[in-house]
Amino acid sequence: MAEERLKGQGSATTLRGLAYTLSIFVDREQHRWTRDEKLDRLGQCRIAEEWLVAEARRYGVFLRFHTGGNYGLESSLSVSSIPKNARGTTEPALLLRTLLLRVGWQDPVALHNAILRETGAQTVHVVMHVREPGTSVAAPFDARSDAARFLEGCVVRAEYTAGAAQSPSMYAHEILHLYGAWDFYALPSYRPEQVALATQKFPRDVMLETPRDIHRCEVGPVTAWRVGWRAAEDWYERLRPEGE
Ligand SMILES: [Zn+2]
Repeated sequence: MAEERLKGQGSATTLRGLAYTLSIFVDREQHRWTRDEKLDRLGQCRIAEEWLVAEARRYGVFLRFHTGGNYGLESSLSVSSIPKNARGTTEPALLLRTLLLRVGWQDPVALHNAILRETGAQTVHVVMHVREPGTSVAAPFDARSDAARFLEGCVVRAEYTAGAAQSPSMYAHEILHLYGAWDFYALPSYRPEQVALATQKFPRDVMLETPRDIHRCEVGPVTAWRVGWRAAEDWYERLRPEGE
């Protein structure tokens, strides 16, 4: 349960203008990416980005994505374990810290600044593609975060469980989290009446469901407000998760 994310802090500020996705492919001993799989995942991430651009346009917001950069595409970037918290949830910030040290970046803020300087991007986020099955998760920067967590990243697993491959909508879902979007499905921090209200108001929101076909999804008004695409209305607060 994160505290309310401080808008404008961290590397993923507002999802508009020129955005930069840093992709990192992560192997474990038993779960290694093939090159074809890596290219397929980059393609899925691109589909998610193009969909986000089109959704932003519906709200009158200009967004485009830089072609981005990557680590672990041409060589294997392998870790011995995926860091988890006491509840068994993946810790993207700790994994990112480990990965950046492996590729020679001691200071994530310096990497962020180098990307801004070289590309003219306004906002930067990291997508860690993890071959090992599991739950995808995002780590937005929040009030308690230290500078080491400034660079905001998400973990997108190849599969939720073996054989249940993820799709572009999961990339869009996790990237939107980095920009402040809330989940709208049943979670310990989310009351049944909140899920019911979200389902009634915007049943196709990508923060509610991630079907295989991303074009069946939309960015609904509350998610659009969270990521800086529109102004709030009073009832939006009724959908705020506990502890946010
Ligand atoms: Zn989520």
